[in-house]
Amino acid sequence: MSEHILVAAAWPYANSYIHVGNLTGSYLPADIFARYQRLAGNQVILVSGSDAHGTPVSVRAEAEQTTPVAVYQKFHQSFIELFQKLGLSYDLYTSTHTENHFKVSQTVFLALKKNNYLYSERQQQWFAASQRRFLPDRYVEGVCYLCGYPNARGDQCDGCGSLLDATKLIDPRSKIDGSTPELRETEHFYIDLGALEADIINFLREREDYWRPNVLRQSLGQILADGLHGRAITRDLDWGIPVPIDGWEGKSLYVWFEAVIGYLSAAIEWSQLNGQPDAWKEWWFNPQAKSYYFIGKDNIPFHAVIWPAQLTGAGEWFGKLFSGDEGKKLTLPYDVPANEFMNLEGEKISGSRNWAVWGLDFLSRYDPDPLRYYLTVNMPESKDTDWDWDGFLRRNNDELVATWGNLANRVLSFAYKHWEGHVPEPGELRSKDQEILRVVEAGFQSVGEHIQAVRLRAALGEGMRLASEVNKYLDEAAPWFEIKTDKEAASKTIYTALKAIDSLKILLAPFLPFTSEKLHTYLGYSESLFGEQFTETQHDNLGEHTTLRYRPSLNENQWAPSQLQPGKGMNQPSPLYRKLEPSIVEEERARLGS
Ligand SMILES: [Zn+2]
Repeated sequence: MSEHILVAAAWPYANSYIHVGNLTGSYLPADIFARYQRLAGNQVILVSGSDAHGTPVSVRAEAEQTTPVAVYQKFHQSFIELFQKLGLSYDLYTSTHTENHFKVSQTVFLALKKNNYLYSERQQQWFAASQRRFLPDRYVEGVCYLCGYPNARGDQCDGCGSLLDATKLIDPRSKIDGSTPELRETEHFYIDLGALEADIINFLREREDYWRPNVLRQSLGQILADGLHGRAITRDLDWGIPVPIDGWEGKSLYVWFEAVIGYLSAAIEWSQLNGQPDAWKEWWFNPQAKSYYFIGKDNIPFHAVIWPAQLTGAGEWFGKLFSGDEGKKLTLPYDVPANEFMNLEGEKISGSRNWAVWGLDFLSRYDPDPLRYYLTVNMPESKDTDWDWDGFLRRNNDELVATWGNLANRVLSFAYKHWEGHVPEPGELRSKDQEILRVVEAGFQSVGEHIQAVRLRAALGEGMRLASEVNKYLDEAAPWFEIKTDKEAASKTIYTALKAIDSLKILLAPFLPFTSEKLHTYLGYSESLFGEQFTETQHDNLGEHTTLRYRPSLNENQWAPSQLQPGKGMNQPSPLYRKLEPSIVEEERARLGS
């Protein structure tokens, strides 16, 4: 039965470039999962976008004497370029700086207010007279009132590690221009998380048996230990989404509040762009729909606690206010398979020290599928992992090239040469031929189950194990010798191996889409396996934004054993992967930290 699956990938913050740790943490697993679900015949939308607002973007704009829009656009374009090159099949990759997202976010705010889950409170905050604006806590520095450390940040002291009350800092100064701020009173809206606590505990308990332990620890565990408390959702900043209430001009919604709403607004924008403006309701107003949120561990509380609280708190008012729908609740997350972190050569990745492997830089020297492969076998699903260049070299040469690439290449080349570009006619298959096909075809169950449960490393490992089985079968049958004495036996072996490879092509396709697509062509299929990515510029009253989109192929529902026909025409094959020289390890290490 076809299901509605929403695949929600983290929204990168438009203030720095993307490195391999970000990719393996959330964007790549989301794509693997979405590609599998489409192959399995489900109704999938993979949505995300750039998180454009907030203080870091506006501060950077000032430092660079440009506008926040220009800063966000620069990074947004680089994200789209990377995601396209890496084959991340977003049905829609958009941004939070769109009229649609403003409207959806403001409607969620108003729905929460209708249900009495918002309250306002006056508070003291540092105000920089030199810039005529309030300073966010992390932009005020001063002497720690607990330990005397001279450079404590308003939100936290690096000297003693304590969380601080910014208003108590001694000798405060603005981190932006060094001026001395003054305390002023301001008023903000808060979301009443305490009033939603029982609902959120129920929501988490219902998912306790299949969520990852680290996600449960940082959600259910935290709530049971500390409870939920009101949290400010507005701030004094004009780079953001205006608070939709008269008299609140100059204040905007907090980035953490509005960016998660992007999963909803992007589904709505996707529907509009497809000319089916109500299509999003199949995912968002459908209790049977499943939503999966692919994020890094630093984002767990926002996706496993606060976002469900926003959705629950908006209740039926969102549908009433936004689309005139009565009695419709928004779909809560089905799973939040958050990943841990990836380190680099044994140290934490650090953009500012250039201790990072940057996505676009990597792809200027290497192909996308080897990156997808290494990031999947090394995905930090249950604990932190490490990117090391030795490991990349070894995995590429010993696994991707030796186990899978050579298998496909030697069988296809041999068939193409000895059967004049056609799949051999095998006659009746022998029991060893039938046996290896049974082994490989069982992978549609085993690999599928692993992906369904978001065990992507295990799924890829299983696919590669099956490729090794086909290698063993070939080594034993040795068609290269068979053909000299018994071409009929060689026909059976090569037909069987081609059929196994045709199945493996699908089993590995969510992980290695570019090379599976090539293999699909070499095997003589005329329609493409996957659909295609494309970019498109949208215009609204806020300006323009580039979107990355995906047009599915005519028949993407192919998660089933190969039906390769004897006598089918093939196309000239060539190697799928290239073996890398050991010298790359030292070359790449020399680029780090410089
Ligand atoms: Zn301190």
